[in-house]
Amino acid sequence: MVTPSEKGSGRAGAGPAADHAADRIGDTSRLIHDPVAMQGVVTAARAAGRRVGFVPTMGALHRGHVSLVAAALEDCDDVAVSIFVNPTQFGPGEDFARYPRPLAADIAILDNAGARWTFVPEGAAIYPAGCATRVVVDGPARGFEGEIRPGHFVGVATVVCRLLHAVPADVAYFGAKDWQQTRVIERMVRDLGLPVELRICPTVREPDGLALSSRNAYLSSDERGRATALVESLRVATAMWEAGAACAVIEAAMRELLEHRGVVIDYAAVVDAESLEPPVDARPAVALVAGRVGVTRLIDNMPLRPRSGAG
Ligand code: AMP
Repeated sequence: MVTPSEKGSGRAGAGPAADHAADRIGDTSRLIHDPVAMQGVVTAARAAGRRVGFVPTMGALHRGHVSLVAAALEDCDDVAVSIFVNPTQFGPGEDFARYPRPLAADIAILDNAGARWTFVPEGAAIYPAGCATRVVVDGPARGFEGEIRPGHFVGVATVVCRLLHAVPADVAYFGAKDWQQTRVIERMVRDLGLPVELRICPTVREPDGLALSSRNAYLSSDERGRATALVESLRVATAMWEAGAACAVIEAAMRELLEHRGVVIDYAAVVDAESLEPPVDARPAVALVAGRVGVTRLIDNMPLRPRSGAG
């Protein structure tokens, strides 16, 4: 899937389809901007007995996104992918304006990956003038990203709710890479009784372990070297967790490793995988990490097997 020139960049291969991406931009049956039209094609496909999968993204697609499309193609007949850089999930001073938007390359990647529809709504179609409605999730949205990025999960929940309305699929696919986001979306879907199944897919990583992220493109080569500290801190956490270490001791070791590698830590924590509260015996846990390498903010996490005597 990845061409030699793209190795190490994490970019998914656009391949020969790249040449045809411009054609796709004019193909209104597969590249859809209007939410009502999008809803119409998905509703018609499902009425014809087809199972539809949906992968929401902000574009700048890499192999992590493509893995979600592949998972969707495994259990659905048709896959829709949205590309929308959602302004409401970015805080003031964050990277909304400079977030990469390589639309033609993204369309080519989705062609190669086998997606049937690419949904690229305008901002005004998602947030009509005077829009005054927001979806606010409590519980798993508290703490971590919710605390460091106030309003972030209101933006995420609102846009996902809106996108699920425009793309009324059978199943929606999300990456475990954004673990807290998966908990927030699951809670929203359950609380609002939204008629969609959710699938959470494993994090796709570079050979050295760095989790693929559209933001990795911001890293200088020195920063790219230091960025592996996040996954290394998670590996340390996993080994210590399995050896029975107390959470406070694990978190201290994570912080020491991250600081030593020059990562400015936002958090490094071991928590219950569902509630994101302190771990409970015999339940799955997760190690979470977030921090800045230079000016680039990265997050990562690793699932931890249940153990007795979590502490
Ligand atoms: P984004 O475009 O960053 O909003 O991500 C869109 C979806 O892709 C989200 O469900 C992310 O969790 C998922 N995703 C991002 N990076 C990865 C990765 N490295 N592996 C798997 N899924 C990912």
